[in-house]
Formats: sequence, C-alpha cells, structure tokens
Amino acid sequence: MADLEVVSLRKEYPTRGEPLVVLKEAALSLNAGENLAILGPSGSGKSTLLYCLGALEAPTSGRVELEGQNPFELAEPKLADFRNRQIGFIFQDHHLLPQLSVLENVLVPTLAAGAATSEELERAKYLIGRVGLTSRISHRPAELSGGERQRVAVARSLIHQPRLLLADEPTGNLDRTNAETIGRLLLDLQAAENAMLVAVTHSLELAEMFAERRSLDDGRLV
Ligand code: ADP
Ligand code: MG
Repeated sequence: MADLEVVSLRKEYPTRGEPLVVLKEAALSLNAGENLAILGPSGSGKSTLLYCLGALEAPTSGRVELEGQNPFELAEPKLADFRNRQIGFIFQDHHLLPQLSVLENVLVPTLAAGAATSEELERAKYLIGRVGLTSRISHRPAELSGGERQRVAVARSLIHQPRLLLADEPTGNLDRTNAETIGRLLLDLQAAENAMLVAVTHSLELAEMFAERRSLDDGRLV
C-alpha cells in the first residue's frame, strides 16, 4: 500500500434540492518523496479534494489513508493532533497573524502543545533560513512582500515535519517570478524532507514543475 491512498472518494454538499456532487470516485496514491499537481478550473472541486486529504472536511464516502491511518476514524482531539502534525497546509492567502513576527508565525502550529521547545525553535530558524528570510526573522507580515509572506507560510507548514504537504493555489496571488520561487521552494523542501506534496492549481506553469500531473474532471482525477 502507498503512503497516501485515496480510494473512491465521493463528496456531496447538501443543497435545498439535489445534493451537489463535487467529487466522485476520485482516487490517487502517492509515496514519500513524491509530488503531484492537480489541475482544474475554478469550481471543479480542487479545494474540496485538498480539504478531504487534509482531514478538514469529511468525505461523503470513500477512504483516505495516510501511512495506514484513516483520519476520519479518529475522534477529536486526536483528529486535530493528526492534522497539526501529519499535514502541512499552504493556502493561496498566507494566513499569517499580523501581530506576530516571522519567527513567531512559523512557530504558531507548535503552540497547541504549549510553548515551543528548543528543538522547535531551532527548526523554525532552520526553515526560515531555507526560505531565505533569516534577515527578516523579527519582521511582521506587513513589512514583507507578498512573495516573502508566502515563503513564511511555507516554513510554517513544515514546522512539524509533516508527511503530507497540501498547497491550495499557492501561487494564485503572486507574480510570475515569485510564483516560480514558491514552486521551487515547495518542491525543494518536499524532496529534502522526503515528504509528499499535493498542490492544486489552475496554473499550468506551476503544474509543469511537478513530477506528476492530474486533472480534476467531472469529480474524477484523470
Ligand atoms: P475549486 O477549489 O476547484 O474552485 P471548490 O472545491 O471550492 O472548487 O468547490 C467545488 C464546488 O463545490 C463549487 O461548485 C462550490 O460552490 C461548491 N462548494 C464548495 N464548498 C461548499 C460548501 N461548503 N457547501 C456547498 N457547496 C460548496
Ligand atoms: Mg479552491
């Protein structure tokens, strides 16, 4: 079995009439060190798929297994812990906290367990170096450019050495040069950490940087 197995994933949203079927029979498998880009136009279910992979949204039916664990079999607070430790999320919008420095933002996921440990502090500094922001470590998001903010979000997503990195339109708000930098960083760090990376995007340029590409078409991955 692969490290990430997605089998017969179906997702419906209730409406006043017939339910809206967003995913049907979506399937994929991925192993540590592999990356995949999923292309699809707006409204095709890209975010829904990522939320199901990241255990943020329960599928209507089907199965998601990360290293043999089906997160939807976990109850809170174990599910929250699974999400926090096994999954790294990067959104189109960086979701940084404006009142915190770069270093503090990268450490945010560690706060669920109390104060950051010295290992976590070292790792945060290492990751900030990897994304090229050591000289900006005490700056606040307002003092950074859009590309730099997204680099902080990439560092934050990796703080717990997640097995699975999920990126939802990670370059959607960036110009071409910054988009390429973020794409490169995501792929370099994913390889260095031997993690899995799934990015959803409508950018063919970003998708072409990935080892594997699929499309979301009528709720299926083709
Ligand atoms: P994408 O990320 O590819 O733009 P989404 O996954 O956000 O697509 O949405 C897919 C479809 O599901 C859209 O038609 C959207 O309106 C609908 N949708 C998304 N979230 C919900 C929700 N919570 N309730 C009802 N419909 C939703
Ligand atoms: Mg979306």
